[in-house]
Amino acid sequence: MRGLMQDWPLLCHRILEHAATIHGTQEVVTRSVEGPIHRTNYAEIHKRALKISQRLDRDGIKLGDRVATIAWNTWRHLEAWYGIMGIGAICHTVNPRLFPDQIAWIINHAEDRVVMTDITFVPILEKIADRLPSVERYIVFTDKAHMPQTTLKNAVAYEDWIAEADGDFKWKTFDENTAAAMCYTSGTTGDPKGVLYSHRSNVLHALMANTGDSLGAGAGDTMLPVVPLFHANSWGIAFSAPSMGTKLVLPGAKLDGASVFELLETEKVTHTAGVPTVWLMLLNHMAANKVKLPHLRMVVCGGSAMPRSMIKAFVDMGVATRHAWGMTEMSPIGTLAALKPPFTELTGEARLDILQTQGYPPFGVQMKITDDAGKELPWDGKTFGRLKVAGPAVSKAYFRVDASILDQDGFFDTGDVATIDPYGYMRITDRSKDVIKSGGEWISSIDLENLAVGHPAVAEAAVIGVHHPKWDERPLLIVQLKQGQQATREDILKYMDGKIAKWWMPDDIQFVDAIPHTATGKILKTALRDQFKTYSFPNAAA
Ligand code: AMP
Repeated sequence: MRGLMQDWPLLCHRILEHAATIHGTQEVVTRSVEGPIHRTNYAEIHKRALKISQRLDRDGIKLGDRVATIAWNTWRHLEAWYGIMGIGAICHTVNPRLFPDQIAWIINHAEDRVVMTDITFVPILEKIADRLPSVERYIVFTDKAHMPQTTLKNAVAYEDWIAEADGDFKWKTFDENTAAAMCYTSGTTGDPKGVLYSHRSNVLHALMANTGDSLGAGAGDTMLPVVPLFHANSWGIAFSAPSMGTKLVLPGAKLDGASVFELLETEKVTHTAGVPTVWLMLLNHMAANKVKLPHLRMVVCGGSAMPRSMIKAFVDMGVATRHAWGMTEMSPIGTLAALKPPFTELTGEARLDILQTQGYPPFGVQMKITDDAGKELPWDGKTFGRLKVAGPAVSKAYFRVDASILDQDGFFDTGDVATIDPYGYMRITDRSKDVIKSGGEWISSIDLENLAVGHPAVAEAAVIGVHHPKWDERPLLIVQLKQGQQATREDILKYMDGKIAKWWMPDDIQFVDAIPHTATGKILKTALRDQFKTYSFPNAAA
């Protein structure tokens, strides 16, 4: 027997309809790419998103067609998301930080028909445009006054383009499993892989993000997503915030500490979300200028491990942290480190111990850890295993790759290695390819990195496994010092000594001017392995 409830498909554009109806005057504030602060609200964004749909429809964009966006977090980019999805086209977010060749590969693989972009990225696109046969036109997120001279095919200023529509248009209704958006993962090996979100997965994921123990915001709050709309589905914030009527503050192209601080302060932001490097820049700015953020209540941090010293810095200023783990394939939320019983009353170091874990999953994400043979491992907080996940917002296959990516129980192997404790708190110890195998035992590079950045002179630290004749692999710690600070190999080793098992101690430290990063802000370990490929430990002959 079937239930007698309405067929009400979970469609992304219904979120914006709700925001416009119930939270219409709630503000969306942007530091525009052109410079000035721009203010609008959900009712206006809804009206303009309808114009985008109408205009795309007139240009012949149909259900299932791909429309790319290569753009910063701005109100225009947000309305474009909804305008594209509202006609059943697929909003393909492209990361502008990728190499131009990768951008070309991705656009060609997706066969994008239209590219919407910011003035910032016009020169990059001009260099690759003759290799993008599927693209029929380029729409530049600006007005006539700021429109650059360009050779891009059929280029038009966005404001001129939507001015040709009156907005008298109705969004379509279709099956909730229809594709809504896509985002390629920037894998360090092989070709990028297209993750294809559905309307249903995005709406369910927004609901997962909406709880107090998840992103933690509500209608009375203000959220500043530093996490870009072009990375990992913007952690669901582009759906979650309007679904709750949370005020949005969008940082545009300026993501440095001073600019992010200024917006957090002037817009009285209560919640913000981004990767650790962004928070490092913010904390440095705040310390150097001795400034405070009295309205800020929650910093959501993910994408890479949030160092304990960073968590402590925020907690000490009265700001809660929410360390989150996830991945593009998971829409992306996997786990979040909220404090639940019996840990809610913890204080001091014991509280930091829990806040530093990657957290536990919201309803809608299942996880398990297994050995290499697929056998499930215990949740004892100690046993490391391959982390596998399942849920309605987790990928089952990649775009145009004819193969399932799930095990026989329907779980996706995240490529991460983790422990899970009896309360469901998960701790990432490594990417499976980064784990250091020393004498048959595993050493967590992330734990060592977290510890090393706690040293006051260390700006960033990376640990790689280097061949050792006796132990197979041993950890090499690579350190970038803070500007103007000094520390020797011995100082840092002394700082680490006693805080971890003796056999986890790095065998050596090498100092570099800059630690390389991927297009999504993660430490680029392949480049470091390359850089140190001829390195051998001083004790290697032992
Ligand atoms: P992406 O798909 O680009 O978001 O990358 C996902 C990967 O980033 C995960 O599989 C993890 O390896 C890593 N990652 C994300 N969040 C965290 C975190 N909080 N701690 C450690 N690694 C993380």
